[in-house]
Amino acid sequence: MEHEEARDRMVRYQIQQRGIDDPRLLEAVGKVPREAFVPRRYRKMAYRDGPLPIGRGQTISQPYVVALMTLALQIEPGDKVLEVGTGSGYQAAVLAELGAEVVSVERHDGLADKAREALEKVGYDVDVRRGDGSKGLEEEAPFDAILVTAAAPTIPTTLLEQLRDGGRLVIPVEETRGHQRLIRVTRNADGSFERSELAQVAFVPLIGEEGWDDDRASWWG
Ligand code: SAH
Repeated sequence: MEHEEARDRMVRYQIQQRGIDDPRLLEAVGKVPREAFVPRRYRKMAYRDGPLPIGRGQTISQPYVVALMTLALQIEPGDKVLEVGTGSGYQAAVLAELGAEVVSVERHDGLADKAREALEKVGYDVDVRRGDGSKGLEEEAPFDAILVTAAAPTIPTTLLEQLRDGGRLVIPVEETRGHQRLIRVTRNADGSFERSELAQVAFVPLIGEEGWDDDRASWWG
């Protein structure tokens, strides 16, 4: 009950009042129990207006940022979606709540296990895989939407190649150190790409073949 009230307030004040009014999205975010995806000691803070630590130097994203990215992906029920950076599993749960078929890749073993457990416990059917998602997931492609929840140095071309015609990629890109922009790339029916900038953001780095080298992780702290 306590959590439900906090969730309703989150939807209203953190998301709706900042201009996101898509009813399906608001309904979905209003349903997913965010407290189930944060570590026990942060559970009371599950609905605060910011990111929270989830271990391994990683974070569960701010609710507003989750809403913004999800909206940009234009998810329709039945869409096949790849998430790169499972983290807590919360974002994957929001996508599943919208009716997407979600495959999510996480490079940290421990985080992948915890996310899988939380998703199952709350009742979301998400395929969580352990691995480097910076090069996508060839064997599951093409995707209607791909969401990367860690900042990349550039847009990995492999990810663009794994989009279906009409597919959307949403990804934070840090082309200049310290300045991350959330980018959406849409693949048109004729195979051309359309790029737009959505917001300034702050994500942990994407570490992998098409991301940063491992030393970036320690630079980050
Ligand atoms: N979407 C998450 C937030 C993730 S934080 C949530 O809702 O909680 C970013 C995550 O990306 C971290 O867990 C980090 O370990 C992971 N990550 C970084 N590089 C990755 C890569 N190349 N492949 C898969 N996961 C990666």
